[in-house]
Amino acid sequence: MQFSEIIGQDETKQLLLRAVQTNHLAHALLFDGPEGSANLALALALAQYVNCEDRQAGDSCGRCASCIKTQKLVHPDLHMVFPVANLAKGKTSEAYLADWRSFLLESAYRTLPNWLESVNADNKQGNISAEEARNILQKLSLKAYEGAYKIMLIWLPELMNTSSANALLKVLEEPPAQTLFLLVTNQPDKLLITILSRTQRVAIRAFTDDEVATYLRQHLNFDETTARRLAYLADGNLAEALSRSKQDTASVEQHNWFAEWMRTCYRQDLIELVKQADQFDGFSKEKQKGLLEYSIRLYRDLFLWQQGAAELLRLPDTEMAFVKNFAKILTVNHIERIVNDLNESAYHLERNARAKMIMLDMSLTFSRLIKTKL
Ligand SMILES: [Zn+2]
Repeated sequence: MQFSEIIGQDETKQLLLRAVQTNHLAHALLFDGPEGSANLALALALAQYVNCEDRQAGDSCGRCASCIKTQKLVHPDLHMVFPVANLAKGKTSEAYLADWRSFLLESAYRTLPNWLESVNADNKQGNISAEEARNILQKLSLKAYEGAYKIMLIWLPELMNTSSANALLKVLEEPPAQTLFLLVTNQPDKLLITILSRTQRVAIRAFTDDEVATYLRQHLNFDETTARRLAYLADGNLAEALSRSKQDTASVEQHNWFAEWMRTCYRQDLIELVKQADQFDGFSKEKQKGLLEYSIRLYRDLFLWQQGAAELLRLPDTEMAFVKNFAKILTVNHIERIVNDLNESAYHLERNARAKMIMLDMSLTFSRLIKTKL
């Protein structure tokens, strides 16, 4: 991560750059910022800067061997500790290092729930265990391999249990030479006072709506209006904006698939319906369930529209157009039967019935039903 990749935050960047350039960098920094802020990104940019072999005045070079390894999160002097769940006894977060790298490479603006979900532990609580503290000590007893600094980046140190926090405190009191601690926190009030007093706080503000919108436009190619809307809803939390943008993209995909399916049913195009059933069969179980849920939701909206409750509908334009069109063809009786069928199919899908058969069955029923007067 380079400083230039991070939107805004100029004062903080200058502060960090100056500290390195004047040799005034504290050995332990606390990047304190709200969820979805640039705290982790700035810590990573600093890690890259201090070990860059060709430091520029305003940023790391981004091209030297050290920068490239840090960017890929594989620099041997960059150690990372993060909360995990479901660890087998005697294991540390290192067991999840490969997952962690790909999680972080996707974006440095993520949350604990994002992380736990990505390793299928979303119903668990993450924490940093006592075992982890031993791991930290052991790593720091090694000499720096390549870089000027050995870096220990701890994401969410507030999730350390007492014994790991105490072990960390000991190292912070007597830090090994040329070691830089980068603690990245959302909740500094949950840290031991003694840890707080051993670290230099770097206050990081939330992103502004403008900054979030700019990020969405530049990195995800969202148009101005969508970017503004998502930024407004996320209220300065970039991680939240990214989750919302994923849902947004997913629901556009769902709508396109659903609309195509319904049009094919209306045309009674059997060959195409078999193809769609095959395609559906190839989707993940989650995606299949998502599509059925989406279909049910849209038929409920259609029902509301027909009942004259149009003002209750908050639908994007494409979905609204579909609702208006199909409202001309279908009656309440149609909708009731279709929703029942969709619910039943979701039930069978959940119990591992063959997705292709379920889909084909529904398609044939709907093709007939749509053309029947009810
Ligand atoms: Zn470099």
